[in-house]
Amino acid sequence: MRPDILNPLFAETDTLDGVGPKLRRPLEKLGLIRLRDIAYHLPDRFVTRRAVESLDKTSEGEQIVLALTPTEHRAPRNNRGPYRVLAQDSIGNICALTFFGRASYTAKKQLPVGEKRWVAGKLDRFGDMLQIVHPDHIEKESSASLAQLTEPVYPLSEGLTQPRISGLIEQALARLPELPEWIEQSQLDKEEWPDWHDALHLSHKSEHARARDRLAYDELLANSLALMLVRADNRSRRGQPLKGDGQIRAKLELPFPLTGAQKRSIAEIEGDLVQEAPMLRLLQGDVGAGKTVVALEAMLIANEAGKQAALLAPTEILARQHYETIRSMAAPTGVEVAILTGRDKGKARESILMGLMDGSIDILIGTHAIFQESVNYRDLGLVVIDEQHRFGVEQRLRLAGKGRQTPHTLAMTATPIPRTLSLAQYGEMDVSRLDEMPPGRKPIITRVMSMERMGEIVDGISRHLETGQQAFWVCPMVHENEKLDLAAAEDRFAALRERFGDRVVLVHGQMKPEEKDAAMERFVKGEVKLMVATTVIEVGVDVPNATLVVIEQAEHFGLAQLHQLRGRVGRGSEQAVCLLLRSEHLSETARRRLALMRETQDGFRIAEEDLELRGGGELLGTRQSGDTPFHIASLEQITRLLPAAHADARLLMERDGGLASERGQAARVLLYLFERDWGVQLLRGG
Ligand code: ADP
Ligand code: MG
Repeated sequence: MRPDILNPLFAETDTLDGVGPKLRRPLEKLGLIRLRDIAYHLPDRFVTRRAVESLDKTSEGEQIVLALTPTEHRAPRNNRGPYRVLAQDSIGNICALTFFGRASYTAKKQLPVGEKRWVAGKLDRFGDMLQIVHPDHIEKESSASLAQLTEPVYPLSEGLTQPRISGLIEQALARLPELPEWIEQSQLDKEEWPDWHDALHLSHKSEHARARDRLAYDELLANSLALMLVRADNRSRRGQPLKGDGQIRAKLELPFPLTGAQKRSIAEIEGDLVQEAPMLRLLQGDVGAGKTVVALEAMLIANEAGKQAALLAPTEILARQHYETIRSMAAPTGVEVAILTGRDKGKARESILMGLMDGSIDILIGTHAIFQESVNYRDLGLVVIDEQHRFGVEQRLRLAGKGRQTPHTLAMTATPIPRTLSLAQYGEMDVSRLDEMPPGRKPIITRVMSMERMGEIVDGISRHLETGQQAFWVCPMVHENEKLDLAAAEDRFAALRERFGDRVVLVHGQMKPEEKDAAMERFVKGEVKLMVATTVIEVGVDVPNATLVVIEQAEHFGLAQLHQLRGRVGRGSEQAVCLLLRSEHLSETARRRLALMRETQDGFRIAEEDLELRGGGELLGTRQSGDTPFHIASLEQITRLLPAAHADARLLMERDGGLASERGQAARVLLYLFERDWGVQLLRGG
């Protein structure tokens, strides 16, 4: 049970003044559900604005405060478009104040035509016009103080403003309890870190690196500890040794010889499976390295030992793809392969549930539906989890509870994680690496082109589609405002549709999952030829006929992401091409990133360099931690602080593995605070 001392932090946000059903939604969109989340909603950066007399005295990109008088309100042309208020400075220059979605109601009220207002925000440009998107402040009174204030800038979602979220954070901070110290005193002294309570307050007030480090360290320590508890628990469990006799595997008729790396990984897995302690192994291999067949061999070993195996995929489409591949590869062996996803209902579902219970199904493939309460296996011996990073440790533990005894677990990921991060994410697992590609792969041709050559690029796509092959067009997420991004993707889609008609489809993250799946499926089946997408295509869809990927404003993507996106092509026998479209002006880091993409296709090298490049360019704790399990710690902080946190956790485990001492108790509070209490629960259970 959660220690009582944490209760105030786990109260829901609507216990704060001013939070009703209306504000709850935008908060939830940011993952802010409890006071804890609000208190940990740390600023991306701080701004200090400059008061200016007129628009002539400033330039694009600057944070300013100035007096403006609204002259005209322009309602949007469609319901996606922005609401614009045109306003005039003291000498008649015009600028637009731009609002998306519900913010436009505020605009109507706060910006009456003809009345002067003090507006604070970041100046940018829309076409020929200067604009301020979602001003941070709009006030009646002269506000010199607005200009002097150093203010935190928080990540927002639609329906939230900076003053709004600041007010909520203030309330949440006022309710912080005092918590026992879980970091070693000597560590605190050495680093001159504030205690937890002060660290949170300071982090919201100014760029306080030591406070941010302490908060990041807390998260890293919690994670390391939890992983070690899982590991210790796993070691102490009795599983079922699985020894295959090779009979089923002998019947496989693979169309290719296995690579050395595949053979080695299979041998490592085989070695784990004969042990009594359940396997916890990660199979790491770049896109296209051939993880599926390794998973199949592992599952067949389980079948030879008389057990069932299950493969969990992160999405419906991936589950179906795996099902088709594995069923056809396994056909000569005679094992029974079935699929179960959220879509299977009624009779079909019943019959699969029966088959699992009576043991006639040997291999089950599906989405998380395969581990629901109502799904019972006769004898589950092995669980394979594809695209592991999408599933948390908690889910993995839930799966572990499905067998009569703890089943063996094989997790797979294509995300090439640098060694330091791998410790954080998979600290409790053994790792096999597929570091060798199947022979005969043609390297993907990677070219960097300026966006200005759009005409040529579109002609190129046209020729490409004429050959019958397909293509991806990836639009970036670059604005702080996701509506602007979506609008850009929709514009691109509209432009491409003018040229290619209904051969183009648009897929983005705001679509309902069913709509998205349906659009993807039309592409997979070849009904549409060109998919315009935001980064939703990142995770493992396999369309061998798609041999061209165009990545727009490639400089906005991280290296690891570019690598993943490029990996969507080059899976068939045709030569694949990746076009990285760049803007005219590039930072030095962006230039190096794109150059590296041209230079190598080695995911591990890219991952290491990505970390280095990102680490260098990062300020504060900018949370670009994307594929990591962390919300507070940035990549740079992870690299710098994780080794110490890991060592600290190990020391604590050695001294007090049951977390019973005073510091052990404090560590329990930490684990609950970061919701990594699965570790503590294991302690109690075992
Ligand atoms: P991933 O690691 O991305 O999951 P897959 O398992 O989907 O990769 O394999 C990618 C492609 O490579 C598939 O078409 C698969 O049949 C093929 N493949 C796998 N192993 C080999 C091999 N040893 N030799 C040749 N082709 C292989
Ligand atoms: Mg795969």
